[in-house]
Amino acid sequence: MTGHPTELQQRPAHPSEWYDSSREALQTIAEGVTGMAGFGVAVISVARDDNHLEVMAVAGSEDAHEQLLGNRTPIDRLLREIAHADEWGLLRFVPHERLDFDENDTWGWVPDITPIEDPDAWHPLDLLIAPLYDEQGVLRGTLAIDLPEDGRRPGEAQRQLLQRYAEMAGRAVVTAIERETLSHQVRLAAAAREVVRHASSQLRIESIISDVHQALIEGFQARGMWIQTLDEDGHGSGIVRSVEGIEVSLSAELRTIAEAAARRAWEGQRVVIVQRGRDFGGAISVEDGETILAFLDKIGIGSLLFVPLGAGPECLGNLVLTRTEDDAGWSTFEQTAALDIGHDLGRAILNARTFEREHQLVEELQALDTYKSQLIATVSHELKNPLTAIMGHLEMLETSPDLTGTTRGSLMVMERATQRLAKVIDDLLLLSKVGDPDNPVIATPVDMRQVVEEAVELSSVASDRKAIEVTVEAPAEPVVALGDHDELDRVCTNLVSNAVKYTPEGGHVVVHLEARDDQVLLSVTDDGLGISTEDQQRLFQEFFRSSNPEAVAQPGTGLGLAIVQRIVQRHGGRIDVESQLGKGSIFRVLLPLGG
Ligand code: ADP
Repeated sequence: MTGHPTELQQRPAHPSEWYDSSREALQTIAEGVTGMAGFGVAVISVARDDNHLEVMAVAGSEDAHEQLLGNRTPIDRLLREIAHADEWGLLRFVPHERLDFDENDTWGWVPDITPIEDPDAWHPLDLLIAPLYDEQGVLRGTLAIDLPEDGRRPGEAQRQLLQRYAEMAGRAVVTAIERETLSHQVRLAAAAREVVRHASSQLRIESIISDVHQALIEGFQARGMWIQTLDEDGHGSGIVRSVEGIEVSLSAELRTIAEAAARRAWEGQRVVIVQRGRDFGGAISVEDGETILAFLDKIGIGSLLFVPLGAGPECLGNLVLTRTEDDAGWSTFEQTAALDIGHDLGRAILNARTFEREHQLVEELQALDTYKSQLIATVSHELKNPLTAIMGHLEMLETSPDLTGTTRGSLMVMERATQRLAKVIDDLLLLSKVGDPDNPVIATPVDMRQVVEEAVELSSVASDRKAIEVTVEAPAEPVVALGDHDELDRVCTNLVSNAVKYTPEGGHVVVHLEARDDQVLLSVTDDGLGISTEDQQRLFQEFFRSSNPEAVAQPGTGLGLAIVQRIVQRHGGRIDVESQLGKGSIFRVLLPLGG
């Protein structure tokens, strides 16, 4: 058997993964050649990529089987050798004397025979091979034959038999390749589905990468992979996994090269293959390519498929799939599938990035909110003491016997103003207390009928003055809520006093109380000013006061409803409002039923 110099032959560490049945079909044909056509050795090779043939079936000599299975031969080398062959139908015969043979070359496998004395004797270096082309004229494989049993170059009858085997081998090779391609496409499609599934259900970039890792390795039959994601400034780091799954980190130089290459590749919507002796296709300069190749040598990688990740016009990173020198090349189909996956992963990264940004924003807002609450609490405390001193002194002055009428009037104004100030500070202190998660409710059973009664009593001066009729609808038996008495009292007081405050003279207020399922319902209805839909949205915000001039005319701080809402919420309850401007309002509070 003539072969090819060993330096051109590559024996993969892992022979290409093919279905056993595909291999068996080829093996049967090879065995037919040795068994029926009278040859000692038959070898069928298959084109695994555009450049190489790989030996898939060897029949005959054990020695040949051992040495040849899995070997790779460059296609161009074979074509050069058969360029000066005799054409015997599908077969090509190159007698040893015509071979481009160099004494220093070691040959793949040369039978250990001495040619017989005959002008037609078979020489160990004779080459008899059938290149197998598909219907489009693409070379898909070869059938090589060696060691004729009679020691002679084949005659007409033998050639015809070999021709038939070559035809059979041609069909079998094409079918096997189609089958393998199909199964590979199915695997790739499965990988792509996995990517989409995981990527759309995960919101953290790290989780997306670790979820899709296995699917990509299997789908692409890659040895390893890594993903580098770019941050908003276009820079990023990556998790790198080498052949054995070891994590290695990319140097700053490699990261920079990859960032720029990813952007160029995304712009051109193409993938880049980095492999020794291959053109990098413009996305990577020759110098940068060399840096990458040196790195690949270090981690035992022969070639990589560099896939840009992005969404819309924005490049978001890159995915790198690696193979060793012995693995097959990256097919066009794989390159297209990889680019598609680059789009899916890109979208997922964009989602994750948006999620992370929102998450960060929420955290910042929470921090701001805490700061605001602390500020309010501190300032209110600091104001409280001097204000108490002022109030004490005002009271003292008012009792002084030698006050003129004007001074007394001024003192009264000062006292009213100070009381209003004290009310704001008390409300602020209460607001920060009921908004503090470190200060939970100490709940006890509270009969809400009593709370309602007290609230109505407290508003009676104001309601009497405005001739507002306040009606209480409550059952005869206790309606018990679980909570803090003073806080629930505050809820009730604020709602009833608002109803009275924002209802003109002669109006009506109804306070309704009942136990419903496992809840206490408290509602306060009035036929007063009402609240516009727009104002209802912001009603429970601190310091919010209505845009309605009639409402603003009433004294108030805009803290009452904010306090009510926080108290209700920290009791595990709910509050809502229904209102129509000019018609009236109804505030409904639901609280957990106690006892
Ligand atoms: P304050 O009464 O001190 O202004 P609140 O937080 O209690 O603050 O109420 C906020 C705003 O909601 C009020 O300024 C008022 O415009 C409106 N409001 C509250 N209760 C009623 C009601 N029953 N009818 C009409 N408007 C109301």
